[in-house]
Amino acid sequence: MTTSEQLFEKAKTLIPGGVNSPVRAFRAVGGSPVFIKSAKGPYLYDEDGRQYIELINSWGPMILGHAFEPVEKAVRDAIQDSFSFGAPTRKEVEMAELITTMVPSVEKVRMVNSGTEATMAAIRVARGFTGRDKIIKFEGCYHGHGDSFLIAAGSGAMTMGIPDSPGVTKATAADTLTAPYNDLAAVEKLLENNQNQVAAVILEPVVGNMGCVLPQPGFLEGIRALCDKHGALLIFDEVMTGFRLAKGGAQERFGITPDLTTMGKIIGGGMPVGAYGGRADIMNVVSPAGPVYQAGTLSGNPIAMSAGLAMLHHLNDHPEVYTRLEEIGSALVNGFQSSLTKLGLNYTINHIGSMFTLFMTERSVTNFAEAKTCDLPLFGRYFHAMLKRGVYLAPSQFESLFLSVALTDDLISQIIQANEESLQEAL
Ligand code: PLP
Repeated sequence: MTTSEQLFEKAKTLIPGGVNSPVRAFRAVGGSPVFIKSAKGPYLYDEDGRQYIELINSWGPMILGHAFEPVEKAVRDAIQDSFSFGAPTRKEVEMAELITTMVPSVEKVRMVNSGTEATMAAIRVARGFTGRDKIIKFEGCYHGHGDSFLIAAGSGAMTMGIPDSPGVTKATAADTLTAPYNDLAAVEKLLENNQNQVAAVILEPVVGNMGCVLPQPGFLEGIRALCDKHGALLIFDEVMTGFRLAKGGAQERFGITPDLTTMGKIIGGGMPVGAYGGRADIMNVVSPAGPVYQAGTLSGNPIAMSAGLAMLHHLNDHPEVYTRLEEIGSALVNGFQSSLTKLGLNYTINHIGSMFTLFMTERSVTNFAEAKTCDLPLFGRYFHAMLKRGVYLAPSQFESLFLSVALTDDLISQIIQANEESLQEAL
């Protein structure tokens, strides 16, 4: 038994399913998860001393690679001044200023501790501002584990086969309307059938949680126009795409301005941080400026702010990071595509910038139903073949890969080679 296997056996007796977040358990791909001891740059190291090239990067945050020196230094320095004050700090003001500079649609912002908190608060704010109860979300999008979002949810909920979680009351579920991603007509119909009842439409402007799925041309523009017509707020959940697809996130890349934005992952530099923000007139309903309550003992935590500030300052000051991420993404995807062609396979790759998914299906994947046509046992074999070759992928077909600038040209070649061998082995 490896050390990871021993730890997993023990973990299962102490933690539900042996993990603190479901996809980590390798349920979808079979086998026992590797337990990670440390990471540096483009590499993860497990408890048995094995090295892996990182293509997940903690599900997004480690865009500059692991233990990036300026972030590490900022945390070390911050620790000298204690860990938490429960009172306002200068760093929170700096963070708010930096976010509002990088993401101009965000005029005011509130820091929280996770992406889930950000989305839960954002819909409460939308409901408080509009005086309406319902929200529209898209099948296969994941917005964290808040009750309102565990309806046709993506990510781990989709992987575990529980897109509608038990424990969510019927009344809560009834206020969440769902539409297929990229289907404007379905959204229009929902808005027309629920006149003056829909507070917000929330979506991932590029989906990472059913695998990487891109908005088709006109989709985001169409949603913006429908929200305006029906008086619903548009919420972009940029927990994955924020500070990744561009400095200003997907909204900058696609030129669409949402009313509210939710953020997480990169914003904390690897620490537990989330944020939500948007138009000042909307955000002014948040307590104590207004009546919509939302709070947090550790929100704006000084250590987390220090890590996030170091990360965001680096991204803001180094636009070449984004150029390099585009190069890395294209090089990998071109390499994967060449191998597919060479092996006579017509599988689909969806790609944008530093996010992509190789879907084990010959169909194009533009929504949840199409993503579900993938050959999941084949994906499981492919995943383990890659792992054996030292490449760490998301242990589920229904996730995007997240690249970091730490990937060198040499590592890119190694990954392409591993991919080709793994496909051959898995078929
Ligand atoms: N929104 C999106 C788009 C996400 O991808 C996630 C998590 O992966 C969340 C919200 C929830 O964030 P967290 O896991 O930090 O609660």
